[in-house]
Amino acid sequence: MIKSNNQIKKNLNKKKFSTEDDHIHIVKNLVVHCSDTNDEKHLDALDIHKMHLSFGWDGIGYHKIICRNGQIQNGRPEYWNGAHVYGKNKESLGVCLIGRNNFSKEQFISLKIVLLEWKSKYPNSKIYGHRDLINTKKTCPNFDVKLWCTENL
Ligand SMILES: [Zn+2]
Repeated sequence: MIKSNNQIKKNLNKKKFSTEDDHIHIVKNLVVHCSDTNDEKHLDALDIHKMHLSFGWDGIGYHKIICRNGQIQNGRPEYWNGAHVYGKNKESLGVCLIGRNNFSKEQFISLKIVLLEWKSKYPNSKIYGHRDLINTKKTCPNFDVKLWCTENL
């Protein structure tokens, strides 16, 4: 009896590790967004959470939020599929800068921290701006992410 319990436990542990390991290899896209809200509005993850709930979603669609003052806030846990890049949510993580056009110096410092951390954690990942990853009418995040990465990472 004890032996069989241990066997179950062993298998569960195996499963847990393989799932976490899979997730780390599944993530291919690190997607940069903006909230497309007035640059003067100091919104945070809770505001975005409420906004996305009002769309009928399961709460905040991004995994990280970067506030106007540079504060990094958690959104959806990384192992949950996001809701931020149509058709590619399963293999993507999303980080969202609060604002529309003029992001603060502090926000860009935090963006660098988030993206470098994710890059080291997810070995198959590459960084994209929302508008560059999928065919969309959106201009999000309203700056050239590829160029920014070349100059800053
Ligand atoms: Zn976006």
